Amino acid sequence: MKDIVRGWRHIPQRYNLMGSKCTHCGEVFFPKRVICPECRRKGKLEDIKFSGNGKIHSYSIIHTPTEEFKIISPYVVAIIELEEGAKITSQIVDNKGEDVQIGDEVELVFRKIKEEGDEGVISYGYKFKLKK
Ligand SMILES: [Zn+2]
Repeated sequence: MKDIVRGWRHIPQRYNLMGSKCTHCGEVFFPKRVICPECRRKGKLEDIKFSGNGKIHSYSIIHTPTEEFKIISPYVVAIIELEEGAKITSQIVDNKGEDVQIGDEVELVFRKIKEEGDEGVISYGYKFKLKK
């Protein structure tokens, strides 16, 4: 537990969903970028923290996952359009795909991604879940 807390403090980008916003054209990027491909030197990118709210733009139901993910199969992977404008690919948790629709509202959650080996190191990462 101590390690998890330390991880939060040291890797804020993993536990707040951060991106970049161009001060010139207003375009929002995820993951973070150093330069706006449109504005180049005219634009300046500043960090933004996403609210975690978004909508499903498109999705696939994965029935034949790799060995590691067999236990949760089938599962849903979606492209989510965040309310700030950027798109992000993520798993939709707690869902086998029966009631997922394009346009559904989703919210950001942090979940365990995997547990590694004997040391039991647990990786956390962002995922999304349906709001309904
Ligand atoms: Zn720009």
